[in-house]
Amino acid sequence: MKKLLFIISLLLMTGGSLAMAEELNQPFALGEINPYSKYFTGTTHLNRLVAKDDIWNSSIGNVTFDKGARTNWHKHSGGQILLVTAGEGRYQEKGKEIQILKKGDVVKIPPNAEHWHGAAPNSEFAHISIEPNLPNNETTWLDAVTDEEYR
Ligand code: MN
Repeated sequence: MKKLLFIISLLLMTGGSLAMAEELNQPFALGEINPYSKYFTGTTHLNRLVAKDDIWNSSIGNVTFDKGARTNWHKHSGGQILLVTAGEGRYQEKGKEIQILKKGDVVKIPPNAEHWHGAAPNSEFAHISIEPNLPNNETTWLDAVTDEEYR
């Protein structure tokens, strides 16, 4: 019996350590490895939900971050709205404190505000990203968020 419990707990522990963003309980599908990965630290996925268009003038995607993954510093000339759907995340505007993000949070990022967003160090994270005001919304990618800035 003790041996059986040991094996069960070993299986549970192994399963826990293998848990990745694929298993994050979120409402939208994970999508593909983020094609913009060079502007991110760590592994992220992107599921394009609404393509750039001239009907709604928005681009909407589901972005999923592995633990510790985050965007580079960047800005959107038309602003951005984030809707948090799962896990725990981080958001920071240049010169301000890092904010902790939880499921249900809404982040309204003003046009041209330099910022980054991503997962907490010990949690996967997912948000819906809305880029409004197309075609007048260009993203400018800047430096990576260093470990010192992230902590
Ligand atoms: Mn952004």
